Amino acid sequence: MNLVILGAPGSGKGTQAARIAEREKIRHISTGDLLRDAVARGTGIGKRVAGIMTAGQLVPDDIVLNLLRETLANAAERKRFNGWILDGYPRTARQAEALEDVLGKTGDTIDAVIYIELDPEVVVNRLSNRRTCVSCKAVYHLVNNPPAVEGTCDACGGKIVLRDDDKPETIRKRLEVYKKETLPILSLYEKHHTVHRVDGSKPIEEVTSDIAGLIGV
Ligand code: AMP
Repeated sequence: MNLVILGAPGSGKGTQAARIAEREKIRHISTGDLLRDAVARGTGIGKRVAGIMTAGQLVPDDIVLNLLRETLANAAERKRFNGWILDGYPRTARQAEALEDVLGKTGDTIDAVIYIELDPEVVVNRLSNRRTCVSCKAVYHLVNNPPAVEGTCDACGGKIVLRDDDKPETIRKRLEVYKKETLPILSLYEKHHTVHRVDGSKPIEEVTSDIAGLIGV
């Protein structure tokens, strides 16, 4: 099963993608995580994109597409998993077109698109309170879902930090980019794919079971 999950930054798409991937034994492919790994490893790509990400802007299409293409084509991973859920890609209409091209070559098709709907006010609150584990990428909310020990990941003991792009000055920029560049993809997808709309304001577990019900798993 191949899925695309769309939603504003902070809508919970990363959290839900991870949960659906775990539940369905499919691959969670997050372009944000791929890029952050490149930054953390200090690769050439990492050095090119670090400033762009901190500013809340979109990384150039060719860089993201190359990372995605490599990841989708990885033979060992294709053997290990029976499908994927794409989180953070596509983010523009052009990326949606590029994705169709890549899928034409790998022979994959998108079975369903999930769109998590959430009020922008809630998004700002969530992102400014979000903390992320630097090691395993687990996500916390300082008020709704804090770690047991402050600053330490419950899952792996790693350090929990505020992502550079979750700082208040960047959040507004990311939301603007989302509205202008990413939201138009929805109507594009509505023409060619089944788009399932989910209420992202509900508790994490309920959103997951709503998604599971809608995609029939
Ligand atoms: P995310 O973890 O999905 O919120 O992504 C974090 C940041 O990575 C974004 O604000 C962008 O700077 C960059 N990024 C992730 N995915 C893409 C993409 N598909 N196209 C361009 N930039 C991306």
